[in-house]
Amino acid sequence: MTSLAERAAELRALLHRYGHEYYVLDAPSVPDAEYDRLFRELDALETAHPELRTADTPTQRVGGKTLPEFTQVRHDVPMLSIRTETDSGPGGAENFDAKVRRDLGLAADAPAIAYAAELKFDGLAISLRYEAGVLVRAATRGDGETGEDVTQNIRTIGQIPLRLAGVTAPVLEVRGEVYMRRDDFDTLNARQRERGEKTFVNPRNAAAGAVRQLDPRIAAQRPLSFFAYGLGQVEGWALPGSHSAMLDALVTMGIPVCADRAIAEGAAGLVAFHTAIAAKRDSLPFDIDGVVYKVDDRALQAQLGFVSREPRWAVAHKYPAQEMLTTVESIDVQVGRTGAITPVARLAPVFVGGVTVTNATLHNIDRIRQLDIRVGDTVIVRRAGDVIPEVVDVVLERRPVVAEAVDLLSPPREVPKYQPFEMPAACPVCGSHVAREEGEAAYRCTGGLVCSAQRKQALLHFASRRAMDIEGLGDKLVEQLVDVGLVRTPADFYKLGIVKLAELERMAEKSAANLLAGIDKSRSTTLARFIYALGIRNVGETTAKDLARHFGKLDALMDAATLDDQPASLAALQAVPDVGPVVAQSIRDFLQESHNREVVEQLRAAGVRWDEFEPSENLATGPLLGKTLVITGTLPNLSRDEAKVLIEAAGGKASGSVSKKTDYLVAGEEAGSKLAKAQELGVPILDEAGLLALLSPAATTET
Ligand code: NAD
Repeated sequence: MTSLAERAAELRALLHRYGHEYYVLDAPSVPDAEYDRLFRELDALETAHPELRTADTPTQRVGGKTLPEFTQVRHDVPMLSIRTETDSGPGGAENFDAKVRRDLGLAADAPAIAYAAELKFDGLAISLRYEAGVLVRAATRGDGETGEDVTQNIRTIGQIPLRLAGVTAPVLEVRGEVYMRRDDFDTLNARQRERGEKTFVNPRNAAAGAVRQLDPRIAAQRPLSFFAYGLGQVEGWALPGSHSAMLDALVTMGIPVCADRAIAEGAAGLVAFHTAIAAKRDSLPFDIDGVVYKVDDRALQAQLGFVSREPRWAVAHKYPAQEMLTTVESIDVQVGRTGAITPVARLAPVFVGGVTVTNATLHNIDRIRQLDIRVGDTVIVRRAGDVIPEVVDVVLERRPVVAEAVDLLSPPREVPKYQPFEMPAACPVCGSHVAREEGEAAYRCTGGLVCSAQRKQALLHFASRRAMDIEGLGDKLVEQLVDVGLVRTPADFYKLGIVKLAELERMAEKSAANLLAGIDKSRSTTLARFIYALGIRNVGETTAKDLARHFGKLDALMDAATLDDQPASLAALQAVPDVGPVVAQSIRDFLQESHNREVVEQLRAAGVRWDEFEPSENLATGPLLGKTLVITGTLPNLSRDEAKVLIEAAGGKASGSVSKKTDYLVAGEEAGSKLAKAQELGVPILDEAGLLALLSPAATTET
């Protein structure tokens, strides 16, 4: 018996804590399903051993305490909870109908009872008090007897009328649920993330947090919605005889009532409603956690009455939970078609949102760091709507720990068993470098031309009309060529032969010949098209043209992009009009990757040719256009050759001797006679930083 009493005390303590986090702080640390499981265990214990039931047990109470910062509101008609049917199959509906019939003392052959069947919105209960048709007060449920005055915040919800249409009754208290639509929730979280602020675990918490916000200006920025489902205190208004007719009346007053409701006849009608809504659940724009059945006839409701915290005439019939606890077995990364690298949690299988889930996206490294998700962690997985399952929170108190010795005198201390997750430096698919763009959440594989995860996309792009323009090479064919292993990199297109091609399914000899002709024709192209065809991230057609015009030769571009000195290399690239730091970095990342350079060489070897020209003749732009520079002495970072590449890339000429025609002297350490000569002639003298500033005026004015 003591152990049962201990367990009951343990459960009460846990439920008190979780209840406080949920109702008072709007920040639950475990999913509802976990709370419900413990709640049921305690309820069952107390039912079997009523002497274990204490005065403060959570099973006999509604909701939570009010926050002292709010003015308290007494509910003349208490705001109650609703009993939940534990059987989420058809049995749940049948049990309820049988119980109602029993409580009403109906004979087996008495006609079916009519029920108002509604959705169970996953939000926050609100009471709206209208006096003479005007909204005078809005309050939360609180502990059912006393709630919080949240009128200021509720007034910011556009859907809630401040004045009712055609109502003059002295008191009409409307009750319903404030909730947040899923799309509004996603937008809100995206905004929070952008501002580096805390994100919300689910729409319910976001809605509850907004309603119980002390600053109405913040509440006004949170997109909330409302559905009415009942009435509280009423004076001077004749109540219709049924619940459904009452909701109809609310609609005519201008109050939002959800259209997904029905009159269900008997148990069969309830089961049909439960099934129909289950099928619709994922496509609803908001979360529901079940449906609610209410005896429609108010006279029957009165006859049934209430038990401690809930009416006998209503029940909640739930659906599988959309949030569950499970553990992270490992964290892997996936490479998408565009090279984006997404971390994924491999989970112990868990049934959530109606399916068994074993993987959940972790989105990106920022998200992982924010939540500090580690292997071994117990996490909350959410699967709502058609959205892919995601990890929304970690239950830190369940993180596995190990003892670590401190020194000989102190007791060992507990440290987390697993370290924080780090993004891999190399692509798990092709081994190329992984890079992250400034200001971007995603990491990307830079092996665009070789990575098999990106292969089909890269090949299609290479062959596309504005790139190499290979006629007859569409989606299906690229897919086929890759799948049978004939093509891995773009260079492989140029090695295709008629025999192998004709072996492909649905490929007639004539079309194979046509395709080969198309491939052959593409062998001769322009530099701009070739650069574009490489599929460098952020390099579209226009940038490719700018790069071609500027550098004139592919090697000049490759040299500039692969200088050992990274700032100099980026500066050289940014000397091209309209190329900023992000584009420059993408070009460098791509061409620094040896796998990609190899493919370029293979293409050359396969006879692909493009027009090349002397940039000095054709270059119409570049910050050093027409300028002659001389380099002397030792520069801090750049070698002479590198500096020369940079100057030429910017349209300038690097000369060996100082004359009156010299525009600038770039002088490093131990500069000798050239410096003296330049000073004598009055030639402007720059150091390395000065040269870089000249090369990319955009980059320096930005800071
Ligand atoms: P409840 O939420 O299960 O049911 C009553 C509430 O349902 C009403 O107050 C009302 O707000 C809402 N509702 C939605 N649609 C309705 C409709 N059509 N008609 C009438 N009411 C409707 O009961 P409860 O006692 O308020 O709270 C229990 C819930 O809170 C459980 O789901 C539980 O899991 C969750 N909870 C979770 C934690 C946690 O730590 N995660 C802690 C405490 C409670």
